[in-house]
Amino acid sequence: MNKIGICYFRSLYSQSACSLSVGKVSDYLLNRGYKTNLFLLKKDDYVSLITKYNKIMENDIIIYKTNYKDFEYGIRLFENMCRKYNKNIYLTGPFAIMNKDRIIKKYPFVTDVIDIQNSEEINQIFSDLGNKVKKDSVICGVDREIDIQEKGHYINLEASTGCIYNCAFCHIKLMNYTKTEKKIELVINEIEQLHNKLGKNYFIFNDSVFWKNNNDNERIETFIKLLKEKNLNIYFMIYLSLAGKISDELLKKLKEVGLIRVFFGVENVSKNFSIQNNKYISDVDAENFINKLENLNISYHIGFMLFSKETKYDELQENIDFLYKIKKLFRPGMLVEKMRILPNSKDAKYLYNDENNIDQAYNYIIDDSKVEKFYIIINQLFSNINIRNFEQFFSGIKIGLTIIKRENLINDYIEYEKKYNNTLNYINDGVFKILSKMLKKLELTEAEIAEIKNLYSIAEANYIEFMSYLKNHNKNIYETIPHGTEDLNIW
Ligand code: SF4
Repeated sequence: MNKIGICYFRSLYSQSACSLSVGKVSDYLLNRGYKTNLFLLKKDDYVSLITKYNKIMENDIIIYKTNYKDFEYGIRLFENMCRKYNKNIYLTGPFAIMNKDRIIKKYPFVTDVIDIQNSEEINQIFSDLGNKVKKDSVICGVDREIDIQEKGHYINLEASTGCIYNCAFCHIKLMNYTKTEKKIELVINEIEQLHNKLGKNYFIFNDSVFWKNNNDNERIETFIKLLKEKNLNIYFMIYLSLAGKISDELLKKLKEVGLIRVFFGVENVSKNFSIQNNKYISDVDAENFINKLENLNISYHIGFMLFSKETKYDELQENIDFLYKIKKLFRPGMLVEKMRILPNSKDAKYLYNDENNIDQAYNYIIDDSKVEKFYIIINQLFSNINIRNFEQFFSGIKIGLTIIKRENLINDYIEYEKKYNNTLNYINDGVFKILSKMLKKLELTEAEIAEIKNLYSIAEANYIEFMSYLKNHNKNIYETIPHGTEDLNIW
């Protein structure tokens, strides 16, 4: 009983396919004497499962790291695939842990739900077999088996875990993850190794918050200093919080050593939302910061949600106006998903029970019936296009242009940049008109459905044209941009 297969599905397409928690637990288990094999699965992909099937079943134990998006598909797949084998199957991941009781009750074939971030729990289940197993894919304490197969030059890593904030909708705070900080010397060493060994040059920091407030400034100064000394031609992305004041000087220095993208949570610009959910970044603060980023040629990604249980009708236009102003209406993902109410959170009492599914986090009706109606029709509208692709058509080009400017290649892309800006404005205007109309009338017409399909097609054609040129002229940059699909490789 010493072979463990760890399986997971990809949940984000804008990063590398790596799961850091899987990579770390694999290393931990190797040190306890187990052989580990990592499997990246893809929904509805029976063709590649035919190839992987025997390799998965060869393992004595299976760990399925699940996520709310793949759970209902994955649990049935494992239940039926493993039926004739007598295997221990463990589930893990925040979603499984938060819903442990329901899962164990409904799926008795599951041996247990475990927290792979908790070494005490792991030690209890997987006793130390004595002989450490060596695996070549381990780099700096993370098993990079999947990353080695991934041809894109981007890779996830982390400099810290846990979070000091307390946003009501966030599982990180709710699960009380331990706050840890890696020594900066080790982070730089990891970047260097991943660069030299795997050819990665875009580092996506997965920390809950890489730069949480001014207390991190000294650490970031060290990061900049050490990275500069290495003289590596790399790029990176970080998560930061606007709850504190971000130092302009430090931001500039980060840019000089390769910062090309930041992620920060705005969530919603209505005052009510912030009071109800312990989060408030004002629209003015967010806009000022965005202007700063644009002047520095740093692209950005925001966390945002239009709908929560308490959202009022009047707040909808205010938030749509904000997204229009910052030209982010190409991201319907932020519009169609209502806030998740997590089990054990303060609002969990509002959720109605549905025995058919494990996930209960969307089981509520929005208080304001007009908002509920808008939520339904906005979902109907965007179900006519592939919203993940739609987002990629813009964020992919934006990252590309950011790198192109850093590499001083923009003269070759002037026409493409113009076209991108025109397309972005056209799409932003188009989506804004559709949403404003729908909001006023609270209805969705066939004309609006046809229009959103047209907008999608315009954005798609523009993306293909841009990326085709980039692929032919600057292949290295093309391969540095996350490709935005579930596949491991598109090359
Ligand atoms: S800042 Fe981010 S990680 Fe921290 S609690 Fe809020 S949403 Fe969660």
